[in-house]
Formats: sequence, structure tokens, C-alpha cells
Amino acid sequence: MSLTVPARTRRLTLLGATGSIGASTLDVVSRHPDRYRVFAMCAHTSAGALLELCRRHRPRYAVLSGVSEDRSLRKDFADASAGELLFGAKALGEVAAHPDCDVVMAAIVGAAGLGSALAAARAGKRILLANKEALVMAGEPFMQAVRASGATLLPIDSEHNAVFQCLPQAAGADPARASVRRVVLTASGGPFRAAPLARLESVTPDEACAHPNWVMGRKISVDSATMMNKGLEVIEARWLFDLDAERIEVLVHPQSIVHSLVEYVDGSVLAQLSNPDMRVPIAHALGFPERIESGVRSLDLGAIGQLAFERPDLQRFPCLQLAYEALRKGGAAPAVLNAANEIAVRAFLAGSLRFTEIARVIAGSMEIAASGSSGSLEAILEADAGARRAASTLAERFRSQAA
Ligand code: NAD
Ligand code: MG
Repeated sequence: MSLTVPARTRRLTLLGATGSIGASTLDVVSRHPDRYRVFAMCAHTSAGALLELCRRHRPRYAVLSGVSEDRSLRKDFADASAGELLFGAKALGEVAAHPDCDVVMAAIVGAAGLGSALAAARAGKRILLANKEALVMAGEPFMQAVRASGATLLPIDSEHNAVFQCLPQAAGADPARASVRRVVLTASGGPFRAAPLARLESVTPDEACAHPNWVMGRKISVDSATMMNKGLEVIEARWLFDLDAERIEVLVHPQSIVHSLVEYVDGSVLAQLSNPDMRVPIAHALGFPERIESGVRSLDLGAIGQLAFERPDLQRFPCLQLAYEALRKGGAAPAVLNAANEIAVRAFLAGSLRFTEIARVIAGSMEIAASGSSGSLEAILEADAGARRAASTLAERFRSQAA
């Protein structure tokens, strides 16, 4: 007789199925058919890619959030036994909060992921959170929803997953947190860590997206190049681990092997290490509290030889400074920062804004857009909309100056 009780098969809603985190999640899930079944898969507009994935994983529902009702597409999915196809953004929240779904991977990029992640939080789901922008924008109401419903929140961002692994208990519920002196988030420094400063003005979107260690979606790749990604992660850590800005530090570590560190009051420092592959934190969160295979090869420190660390250069990476400012200001200021960043990054990727102007658009938007003192969801959404208008105006001004 076996003494181990097989875990119940959990039903997974995958928000952002066609993205980079979506692909890594499906890779891990495919290794554990006894533990996981895909319940719903969502993409914004890429119908062909979603159909392919649904053919393979046979979810009950497929969602195209950026496409309106289309009978022939629905028939394509039905004919391929690829699930019932739903349309529109509202369907994201429905499959995330569905009573038959147990676990939600929130891997939509940007503010567009907030509504469905919040729906999962309100419905008390086990949430695997990759969409850091949801917490940056709405940390306070999001964490309130998690607490009120009894949802379980597990961080997927590699740094926060590392911190979580170095803490004695679950995020947001750690009675020993008082014994934590500080948390150190590591950052690779991106593709321009050592580039001459004068070069930054003319770097192209493809250069900015060529990350030295990680393969990711284009928005987060640009965020890594400006280090806004680390700024967003500082704010994310504030909410996940209930720490103030003074106890969250950033350290550049070009090899991306040490994913983050936690220092305790006795001077002990714990770190989590692995090869840079998102399947590690994804498998950790999917299996938690057990450990499951991720498909990632063993870490060979002998071959790597040296791990280096340096303090971030705020002249090179002004976006990191802006994020700390938004966090200290509080209220809806982080939502303004996030929205302005999304607009600026989109303009940069479209070729209409210089790389170095991204920080200037965000700084200008933070001055213009109201961010108030309230962190209510209404105030946040209003601030987000105002910041998008301010950032678009500023980005347009830069464009016409350049013309
Ligand atoms: P990606 O661009 O590769 O994929 C984005 C996914 O979101 C796609 O499935 C797309 O269809 C969907 N999407 C885009 N716009 C949408 C909208 N308006 N409404 C609904 N769905 C929409 O992005 P990614 O790199 O997988 O990142 C996803 C999230 O995970 C981001 O918040 C990112 O910061 C975070 N994250 C990513 C990594 C990584 O290694 N890629 C690491 C840490 C955190
Ligand atoms: Mg990260």
C-alpha cells in the first residue's frame, strides 16, 4: 500500500496563454498531467495561436478578449474540440472566477491584467501572479480582496518567488517578518548595463529587447532595459511582503543566478539560486508546498565560476528612482507611474520615442497627472486614465520636436 496520497487534479485558468509566461506554464503543466488540467486559456487577439494551444490542451473554455463575437471562429474551436470560445474582456474575469477553476495563472501583460486578476482574488482562488502591474497599480485593494476572500497569492516574478522561498511562511502572512531586516531584489542590468551613456539615446527597440539572460515579452524586455521593471518590482514587493520602501533594496547582478536575498536581524542572508528560466518559479508555485519537476537543468556553479554584484547607477537608470518616488508618494502615484510607462514603452516600440525619453515622459506625467492620496480602486482607475492622457501628450510633443 502506498503511503503517499496522490494530489487532486487541479483545474487551471491561464490568462495570457499565448505569451512567454504562458508558454513556460504550459511546458511545466504538460509534465504533470496527473496534477493539472487546463480549464481555460485566454489570449487577446491571436486566434490562430490560441486555437493551436487549445487543440493540444483541450480546455473547457477559450477566450479572445480583444475580439468581438465571431461565429465562424467559434465553429473552428468547436470543430477542433478546442473548447467553447468566449469573446471580450468580460470573459477573462468569468473564467478566472469560475467555480470549477481552482488555480489562476495571471500572465496578461500590463494594466489590462488587473480586472481578471482581481476577479480571481475576489473569488478566493489560488493565484499565481506574473502580472506585476496589477499589484503596482492597485496593491492596496488587491491585497484587501485577497485577505477578504481567503485567496492564496503566490508570486511568479522570479525575484519575489525567490524572496517567498527565503521567508519562513506564505507571502503576506508571515509572523516572523519583524525579524527580516531587508529584502534585496537582484537585477541583471539589462542589455545596456555597460553601454556608453551617450549610446542610449539612439538604441533601437530590437536592441532593447535583446536581454542577455531572459527571453520575455517585448514590454517587460524594454522595462528591463530601463530598469523600470525593477522599479515595478520594488512596488510589487512592498505589497506582497508588507515592507516599506526603506527595507527593499536593489542590487545589480549581471549573471541572473541569485534571484533575490532576504537578510534577517541576526545578519543571516538567505538567497535562492537557479538557472535563469521562468519554469523554476512557475513549477515552485504550481507545486507549492511540494516540489515538482520543472524541466530546468541543474545549476553548474563550477562552470559559471563567478557571481558579480554592483549597486545600480541611477543616472543610467532614472526609471528606478521614479518608481521609488511613486512608492513613497503612495495613493495612486504608482498607478500613474505604471500607466505613463506603458504609453512611453509603446511609443518607443513603435519607433516614435527615443529610449532616453521614456523616463522623461514618465517624470513629466507624474508632475501633471493627479495621483491624490486615496488608493481606492475608483481613484486608481481615474489616475491611470489621466496618466495615459498626459503621457500621450508628452510623447507626441517629443515626436514633433524630433520631426
Ligand atoms: P507577452 O507579451 O509574452 O504575453 C502577453 C500575454 O498577454 C499574451 O498572451 C497576450 O495575448 C495577452 N494580452 C496582451 N494584451 C492583452 C489585453 N489587452 N487583454 C488581455 N490579454 C492581453 O508577456 P510576458 O513576457 O509573458 O509577460 C506577462 C506578464 O508576466 C507581464 O506582466 C510581465 O511583467 C510578467 N513577467 C514576465 C516574465 C517573463 O519572463 N516573460 C517574468 C516575470 C514577470
Ligand atoms: Mg522579475
